[in-house]
Amino acid sequence: MSQDTAVAMLARMESGEVTSEEIVRSLLDRADHERRLNVFVHLDADHVLDQARAVDRRRKAGEPVGRLGGVPVAIKDLLCVRGEPTTCSSRMLKGFRPPYDATVIDRLRNAGAILFGKTNMDEFAMGSSTENSAYGPTLNPWDETRVPGGSSGGSAAAVAAGLAPLSLGSDTGGSIRQPAAVCGVVGLKPTYGRVSRYGLIAFASSLDQIGPFAHDLTDTALLLKVISGRDPRDATSVDLPVPDYSATLDTPPEKLRIGIVREFFGEGLDPEVASAIQEAVKLYEKAGATIKEVSLPHSKYGVPAYYIVAPAECSSNLARYDGTTYGHRAEDYSPKYPGEENIAELVRMMMVSRAEGFGPEVKRRIMLGTFALSAGYADQYYNKALQVRRKIRGDFDAAFREVDVLLGPTSPTPAFKLGERTADPLSMYLSDIYTITANLAGIPGLSLPCGFTSQKLPIGLQLLAAPFAEETLLRTARVFERATDWHTRRPKTA
Ligand code: GLN
Repeated sequence: MSQDTAVAMLARMESGEVTSEEIVRSLLDRADHERRLNVFVHLDADHVLDQARAVDRRRKAGEPVGRLGGVPVAIKDLLCVRGEPTTCSSRMLKGFRPPYDATVIDRLRNAGAILFGKTNMDEFAMGSSTENSAYGPTLNPWDETRVPGGSSGGSAAAVAAGLAPLSLGSDTGGSIRQPAAVCGVVGLKPTYGRVSRYGLIAFASSLDQIGPFAHDLTDTALLLKVISGRDPRDATSVDLPVPDYSATLDTPPEKLRIGIVREFFGEGLDPEVASAIQEAVKLYEKAGATIKEVSLPHSKYGVPAYYIVAPAECSSNLARYDGTTYGHRAEDYSPKYPGEENIAELVRMMMVSRAEGFGPEVKRRIMLGTFALSAGYADQYYNKALQVRRKIRGDFDAAFREVDVLLGPTSPTPAFKLGERTADPLSMYLSDIYTITANLAGIPGLSLPCGFTSQKLPIGLQLLAAPFAEETLLRTARVFERATDWHTRRPKTA
């Protein structure tokens, strides 16, 4: 039961075969059993059971229960849930219980979903492996010596390991799509503005988007519909109608014009990943798609531009954690080194609190960003990066005049070993080489399972579409999913 899709669970609850309480009990047992995967940073069994019983009562009384009535959804630990620990997997936010719900959480509650724990992540969503967590890494359910990707590694692993059929993550440079790829599940980053960011603890506000993880596209479509739409509390959320993604999912697009991105097949791409993607291209050809090679000439500047823009915004967003209104406050900030007695006590308190509260990657980003924004350097770095960003968007605009969907690998490699990239930030940053440009351009992208390596590690196929064309994205992806059974594979967990 725990490896069922959300749609299958809904059908079984509707028919009276199981209750939500029974489902969550079995998932709670399983979560207990799979504790070593370190998927959850917070999971309150009583609270989960209370929610499930409430939905069961409504269903039994014949009252409407919502599109997700009784379905458990695991939540990345950077989404505010009223009264529940929300830490961004950082010591800085230890003990923080938000006084309000994020808009997506509100929407999940209204749809009858069961909030099923908070999932592990890279601290403040900075990373690609979930190793930058104050709670230790999450393990990949397909191979426990490997990372689950990141930063939403806990949310991806939760679905892969059958601890929840659905989960939410966030994607600033690839943090939904890359973990989805290496955990063998579907992950979708919506268009910037499609989903409200209210109550998402900010990393880089012009790039962050919340999105779903699921076993397949049917479940993805369902969850995307629930969380999407204009929200007056997020001025960047867009007032456009939200299509019923589920209703059109099984209708293939009339025109299937697919662009193969030349730049996504360069140096550093694992040959087994490359050949799985080539197989996917063949499958689309057989399905009658017009395939065309397209070029995104500025994509090679994606990683460098991102590592200016994202740290710049992060240094500003994270300035609030200084031990006064927000964040951990050091207990001892007495002068320790010569000269420190000359620093005002308040400043010393902030310095020590930040030094204790943030981990090394977050500190690196804050320093990079502060430098890139500093007087005299802003033009050279930050403003230059913004120009590159516009060029990257221009490349996509030109490509989408010729094709409807772009295709390539999600991640250049399958899941790597724990510890393999921690000593080399650049190799870690390159994990997102194919995902980052979509964030810079604000366009939607998804990753879906498309095969396995000889070592039985999942491979992800990335599809990208024009702004707000999530419906085309899902329908195009579904053509592949219907013709394959990769999405039905599950890891053998202990
Ligand atoms: N891995 C990228 C980073 O470390 C992207 C993270 C994300 O999408 N949140 O910044």
